[in-house]
Amino acid sequence: MKHPVCPKCKSEKIALIFYGYPENMEEYLQGIKDGTIAPGGCCVGDDDSKWFCNSCRHEFGNFFVTLEELNQK
Ligand SMILES: [Zn+2]
Repeated sequence: MKHPVCPKCKSEKIALIFYGYPENMEEYLQGIKDGTIAPGGCCVGDDDSKWFCNSCRHEFGNFFVTLEELNQK
């Protein structure tokens, strides 16, 4: 999956915000360690973001919009 850059600080240290219970806990924890995954809580709401910037902690990208975009391809 291609990671975007932060719209605020242009950082490329972007983590995917993960919602729900991870199927692979080891991979999940490693992802958090590496900064590629950010824990987003148990469920995703209408206003929830998809990406998290590790540099300035800015969250961006609507989760559902991105899913729709992916489905169109
Ligand atoms: Zn940022």
